[in-house]
Amino acid sequence: MTTLLKTEGLIKRFAGLTATDNVTFELEEGHIHALIGPNGAGKSTLINQLCGNLLPDNGKILLGSQDITRLGPAARVALGLGRTFQVTSLLGEFTVRQNLGVAVQARRGHNMRILDSLSRRSEVWEETDQLLAGSPLGSRSKIVVDDLSHGERKQLELLVSLAGRPSVLLLDEPMAGLGHVESQEMVEVLKTLRGKVTILLVEHDMDAVFALADRISVLVYGRVILTGNAQDVSSSADVREAYLGTEGELC
Ligand code: ADP
Ligand code: MG
Repeated sequence: MTTLLKTEGLIKRFAGLTATDNVTFELEEGHIHALIGPNGAGKSTLINQLCGNLLPDNGKILLGSQDITRLGPAARVALGLGRTFQVTSLLGEFTVRQNLGVAVQARRGHNMRILDSLSRRSEVWEETDQLLAGSPLGSRSKIVVDDLSHGERKQLELLVSLAGRPSVLLLDEPMAGLGHVESQEMVEVLKTLRGKVTILLVEHDMDAVFALADRISVLVYGRVILTGNAQDVSSSADVREAYLGTEGELC
């Protein structure tokens, strides 16, 4: 097994609170690795340090053998560390296909001048259409983003991230705010990525976590209390106690 992303003794404090408390963690190549824990456990804080939005107070982050602890978000993306962008990064008045075309174009490093010039770049559109073909958005390619449902926007955010061809993808609650059917659809899409991209998935929906994750790490008060498979997590007295101590909600 090859470790693609690793933290060593990561610490992040906010005033008196230790939100990341000495986290040492490994993400294996090809895995979908879920990070779960009660609200306030420090999941988003950890993701934000991994993608470069927050600087840790102590410890290291390694991508492959490279120490990326002090690199900014753009440099990490260039090295293959992708994450879903906020909805605001989508161009609302442009179509699904145009938004994705811009992302493909950006990765290829061409000048992004006017969308018009994109139409002449057939490889960009070929790649864009290939990405769309494997997505529930395939039939919605001509719809403008402002007319998409919340679930469709989430699917497009995922595609935009994949257009960057990341080796590691960080997903912070991709099912948040989705209805049952949309969540199921997202699970199915994420399943198709298994083996193609290594994923660190923060998710509340435990059905989704158990359906997708090869490994699960449980974070409580900033510490990883267990890493194992679904069976290890559901049978752990420590995990149960941690969730019961925080209103018993397994999320
Ligand atoms: P989770 O994503 O697991 O719900 P977070 O990482 O968002 O947890 O938060 C972990 C803890 O750190 C919480 O107690 C939260 O209130 C605190 N926290 C997160 N971000 C900040 C911040 N920017 N400033 C101060 N405290 C923060
Ligand atoms: Mg969070």
